[in-house]
Amino acid sequence: MTDITVTKVDKIGVLPTDKQLGFGQIFTDHMFVMDYETGKGWHSPRIVPYGEFAFVPATIVFHYGQAIFEGMKAFRGSNNQIAVFRTKHYLNRFNRSAGHLCIPPIDVDEVQAGLFKLLDLEKDWVPSTPGTSLYIRPFIISTDGFIGVKVASTYKLFIILSPVGAYYAHGFNPVSIKVEDKYVRATKGGLGQAKTPANYAMSLPAQAEAYKEGFDQVLWLDAVHREYVEEVGTMNIFFKINGEIITPELNGSILGGITRQTVLELARNWGFKTTERQISIVEVYEAHAKGELEEVFGTGTAAVISPVGELSWKGRKMVINHNQTGEFSQRLFDYVTGVQNGIVPDEFGWMDIVSN
Ligand SMILES: *Cc1c(COP(=O)(O)O)cnc(C)c1O
Repeated sequence: MTDITVTKVDKIGVLPTDKQLGFGQIFTDHMFVMDYETGKGWHSPRIVPYGEFAFVPATIVFHYGQAIFEGMKAFRGSNNQIAVFRTKHYLNRFNRSAGHLCIPPIDVDEVQAGLFKLLDLEKDWVPSTPGTSLYIRPFIISTDGFIGVKVASTYKLFIILSPVGAYYAHGFNPVSIKVEDKYVRATKGGLGQAKTPANYAMSLPAQAEAYKEGFDQVLWLDAVHREYVEEVGTMNIFFKINGEIITPELNGSILGGITRQTVLELARNWGFKTTERQISIVEVYEAHAKGELEEVFGTGTAAVISPVGELSWKGRKMVINHNQTGEFSQRLFDYVTGVQNGIVPDEFGWMDIVSN
């Protein structure tokens, strides 16, 4: 493993108060950078001041989008320790996304070492109020200065850090979701299972229309039948029907969320029946009509658990659990965030401690 060089900034920034924190607008003083070149591999891991980078206009990523990213979090525990939630799970997924876009894989241990060194340097930026965290955004872009379509031969990996506020600063707020019937997100054989900017760019028109109609987000259905539930686009989706925890199986067009996996593991550990399978939107409406649909919630790193209070499909609106957060959603949220904040013992070894 190559040594990581460190270039420090002259003037250190100040962490805003926890109440001032939003999402993704403030960045810490330093970032981690590494380069790739065919023949040389990934090289020159370094920590440098956060700041601008110059790229020629022909830089290939601007034209053809060969890029991937991750989103993970570090927390300040009750004993002031900085810890990252399930680091390797995110970095291994980073490599799976890389594979889908012909991006050369990273050495997960080397990147984790770079991340931890960066976090140690930036530890004063990790907020402490429960619910706040330091959001970690690793990403890779292709950097050849060439506007022909091809697999690039040069890349840059960055890791930037952003202190973020509590997602539920004013308590749980169940979301209202439009079941999308005009646009589709991804199909098998496409990029749906990769964390890549293209999946977000394509979601913008649907999101904008749903927002105009008064919904918070969209729920995507499968691209072929327009019938089977896929995911929310930034979150995976779960249904609690008659006591059973059901989520769509990872079928090749859904992003395999780390929070999704965490929820499945927890639910099984707690003795719930969990099922990963195809579930149609018709089945969800039928379960609701029979009074068997107990809870619906999204899972993702940003919100952890996001209760769904309303679903609307082709103008048919259904209210779930009286638009209230369900008992199971609340239990999941309290447990996972409790472990992250160091309040609940980490019995499954989810937290990777960075420094004391
Ligand atoms: C990141 C992401 C999720 C949630 O995954 P987590 O690992 O739980 O954060 C769900 N869907 C898409 C499309 C995503 O990009």
